[in-house]
Amino acid sequence: MTSFLSGLTGSFSIPADKNPTVALMEAGYKASNLDLRYINSEVAPEKLADAVAGAVAMGWLGFNCSLPHKETILAHLDEVAPSAQLIEAVNTVVIRDGRLIGENTDGQGFVEALREVKDPKDSEVMIFGAGGAARAIAIELALAGARSITIVNRSEEKGEKLAQHVDRHTETACSFAPWNETVSIPRNISIAVNATSLGFYPDHAQTLDVDFSHFHPELVVADVVPNPPKTLWLQHAEAAGCVTLTGIGMLVNQALVNARLWTGEDLDGQVMHHALRDALQIVQE
Ligand code: NDP
Repeated sequence: MTSFLSGLTGSFSIPADKNPTVALMEAGYKASNLDLRYINSEVAPEKLADAVAGAVAMGWLGFNCSLPHKETILAHLDEVAPSAQLIEAVNTVVIRDGRLIGENTDGQGFVEALREVKDPKDSEVMIFGAGGAARAIAIELALAGARSITIVNRSEEKGEKLAQHVDRHTETACSFAPWNETVSIPRNISIAVNATSLGFYPDHAQTLDVDFSHFHPELVVADVVPNPPKTLWLQHAEAAGCVTLTGIGMLVNQALVNARLWTGEDLDGQVMHHALRDALQIVQE
């Protein structure tokens, strides 16, 4: 029988007007013939509690939390998934029987995209950056069995803090390396990740201070920056014959995980990839 009542999901952030997630989520729902909507909502920090109560009252299936709510949302949840507890941030909330369950799918999306080209188990990883994206990726790689992780970051204090956190709370050996001169990626490293914001449009002429002559074909090189998808970092990697992973892949995989958590359904990643590229008006790749 026809129903005029769609299932509701969405996002709470501020500013929200440049967030393209709605485009890929609604394209994914439509392609799978799901009567679901994704409502991109601008929510100020002092309105977060009201927005959460509203979502519960309206029977939303769940929502994403983007900046600046990824940490403050924790105070509103009934339960937090183990990896999100370790990351100390939540980007996805599932509402089940009125209970709010926090997940962090930033790093899960990264690892899902990585698994298509390499199993992170027993790998030695170098992560550039120590912000939210680096933290989520480091924790998920550690939980996926990486043997060692080196965090390289401009601000030493932040880098040290993240390395100690991962080293203390997971089975993976994690250490910090300073970034006060051009970094050479050691030969034992098999996965190198740019988890800084370096290279993001319109600053796409910027890249990491790394000696690219040490890139080699056995190295998997990943970027979190989705726009442009082929950053200078990835262009250098491709030129050296490395397998590369774009920030677009991470975003799409994260969205696939979110949809699975909210609906139990596997959406079409290709359709979402195209929708995201169109939304970002990406002409490269
Ligand atoms: P944060 O602000 O938390 O961290 C930014 C990081 O980038 C810090 O480590 C910072 O170093 C470093 N950085 C910034 N500018 C420079 C520079 N000029 N030189 C060296 N290091 C620099 O941001 P997030 O971690 O939340 O996000 C990082 C990137 O990841 C963003 O571009 C974001 O869009 C992207 N992202 C992509 C996702 C995806 O699914 N594709 C998901 C989440 C994020 P320092 O500590 O020294 O300031």
